[in-house]
Amino acid sequence: KKKIAVMTSGGDSPGMNASVRAVVRAGIYYGCDVYAVYEGYKGLLEGGSLLKKMEWSDVRGYLSEGGTLIGTARCMEFRERWGRKQAAKNLITEGIDALVVCGGDGSLTGADLFRHEWPSLLEELVSDKVFTEQDIEPYKHLNIVGLVGSIDNDMSGTDSTIGAFSALERIIEMVDYIDETAKSHSRAFVVEVMGRHCGWLALMAGIATGADYIFIPERAPKCGEWQKELKEVCQRHRDKGRRNNTVIVAEGAIDDQLNPITSENVKDVLVEMGLDTRVTILGHVQRGGTAVAHDRWLGTMQGVEAVKAILEMTPETPSPLIGIRENKIITMPLVESVKLTKEVASSIDNKDFDKAISLRDSEFIE
Ligand code: ATP
Repeated sequence: KKKIAVMTSGGDSPGMNASVRAVVRAGIYYGCDVYAVYEGYKGLLEGGSLLKKMEWSDVRGYLSEGGTLIGTARCMEFRERWGRKQAAKNLITEGIDALVVCGGDGSLTGADLFRHEWPSLLEELVSDKVFTEQDIEPYKHLNIVGLVGSIDNDMSGTDSTIGAFSALERIIEMVDYIDETAKSHSRAFVVEVMGRHCGWLALMAGIATGADYIFIPERAPKCGEWQKELKEVCQRHRDKGRRNNTVIVAEGAIDDQLNPITSENVKDVLVEMGLDTRVTILGHVQRGGTAVAHDRWLGTMQGVEAVKAILEMTPETPSPLIGIRENKIITMPLVESVKLTKEVASSIDNKDFDKAISLRDSEFIE
């Protein structure tokens, strides 16, 4: 009987619960035993009560809950080989040889590394006399499947990550609230949103709320010149009768010389125009709350696909990542997607913004 473990890792995102539920139930449906790893990689390292066999009813009600109910953590020890060896020991002790990881690119990089090291970790555990050759015989290969759980929508190769649309929904709700009060007082608001090095949340929120101006890292404005353009745009809108201004700033916003553009920098420019300006940093409300329908659906479809991928995998199959492209759930090599994602970051670092945009795959940024 196949034993599959499912875990969430890195930052939480709405919809992770849907994917855990789907893996548990699809696994049981296909005749597997399914385990939940609590607290991310920490749970793999510690084992014991953090590795729990799940029944159908254990994930009841998961769809409508935000965050991740099986917990997540940043785990420095898993970055070390001794930590991954400890994790391998715990998995084999439970008889698990397949792992579905729902997390960001860091978590997925760690998972792929773990899979590559698996045979040598097993050899070490045998030479340490933790296991015998016979013990490890059924566990020669570790199957890993990745699901992208992140509010940032920063993974290349997949159109949306589990949680991104929920965070977007939260942001536009908040911007709508802000706009109401801003209009009453004829104020300008600078709203800072999450997304780290990815401008997707800022861009989509800006389009969905009709913001005056949006700052994203992939379309870095010219150093020393953006201030003038920002003023012109906001003034033009005022001249047309708009009573408020809204500027959305991605937390990773920069100019084309890589100087950070902070919400305070933007506020200073608007104040120079004589606008009564406030800054709102939305923070963790963006991560909270229940998942929107898209993320529940995405987590569910991808969780089912992850179980199918595990059942079809051979030792030669590269670790797959389950994504979505043009409304179809797709499978692609995990390493490729992680590599592309890292290339976006390095293109930005090298001021090659056009390349970053083409790798981001977003027609909107163009
Ligand atoms: P988010 O996008 O929300 O930050 P993430 O998965 O990228 O999610 P990280 O903090 O980068 O978040 O990674 C989560 C955990 O994955 C780390 O705490 C660590 O345990 C593991 N991990 C990350 N990178 C590696 C790596 N290169 N090797 C081994 N483990 C790693």
